[in-house]
Amino acid sequence: MTTLLPTSTVGSLPKPAWLAKPEVLWSPWELEGDVLVEGKHDALRSAVQEQERRGLDIISDGEQTRQHFVTTFIENLDGVDFENRETVRIRNRYDASVPTVVGAVSRRGPVFVEDAAFLRAQTDRPIKWALPGPMTMIDTLSDRYYGSREKLAWEFATILNDEARELEAAGVDIIQFDEPAFNVFFDEMKDWGVAALERAAEGLRAETAVHICYGYGIKANTDWKATLGSEWRQYEESFPLLQRSSIDIVSLESHHSNVPIDLVELVRGKKVMLGALDVASERIETPEEVADTLRRALEFVDADKLIPSSNCGMAPLPRRVAFDKVSALTAGAALLREELAG
Ligand SMILES: [Zn+2]
Repeated sequence: MTTLLPTSTVGSLPKPAWLAKPEVLWSPWELEGDVLVEGKHDALRSAVQEQERRGLDIISDGEQTRQHFVTTFIENLDGVDFENRETVRIRNRYDASVPTVVGAVSRRGPVFVEDAAFLRAQTDRPIKWALPGPMTMIDTLSDRYYGSREKLAWEFATILNDEARELEAAGVDIIQFDEPAFNVFFDEMKDWGVAALERAAEGLRAETAVHICYGYGIKANTDWKATLGSEWRQYEESFPLLQRSSIDIVSLESHHSNVPIDLVELVRGKKVMLGALDVASERIETPEEVADTLRRALEFVDADKLIPSSNCGMAPLPRRVAFDKVSALTAGAALLREELAG
């Protein structure tokens, strides 16, 4: 990629209201059968067009074809029972009804590869595809078969690696693993979480990214953030390990967060996808605010390694708000680019 400060988003974007109920997670589809398949494609096409129109350099699918970033992947695996759901606490924060692992997990076939090929056909710009990370998958499940979170994580890592290789073959330039669980379960992250992530990314020629965040802008997350104090130092646990890992890009939350910006130093040498859009607020950032957030990071990351992005996915936001934020991001990156050139 030759552009300095190539802009991107973490991944999810709001879906059109005719496709799924807006502004909620796990939103049910409004269409079914062949019409749903066509509707998902139309939404993806429109998401790409809008990202390009707003000036994003790295295009994603906006998760238009999936209901949820973790559950939709798991739904396509054998060994998981979606009828027998159990209520579990997600990342120690909120309860959700999740499927149960009842046998050996395996991939029935490619999960997102057709959708990724469809995305590839819609744009000439670099494309990024997000998959859930192994540890976050485990945290969105109830296990009645393996009896070991670590064992299940290694199974998922192998499955994710198979999927990632096929996504790469379909033309995906950047494969991102979403691991918000890295900000919560530090001991497991250190014992096997980062190793399982590297296994998921093993042997890929595509660039690999890990996204670690404080979650969507939903109430359970904003309530949790309110308990974290004036300095959020959670990244201090994962960044030193990621700095030594095979992962190319680290995606973190920054704008309007209490994350001390100097923590970025801990992943020196890696590319940094820096969150310069607050996904927990409907207020549209100004380009100057975006540029300020990015500029502050430049002390800790070289300009040619900085990727301006959003703090997290934008699925729960009103559609207009999400896209206006994207415009603010690209305008802010342009301001800083001019500054650096001058
Ligand atoms: Zn996130």
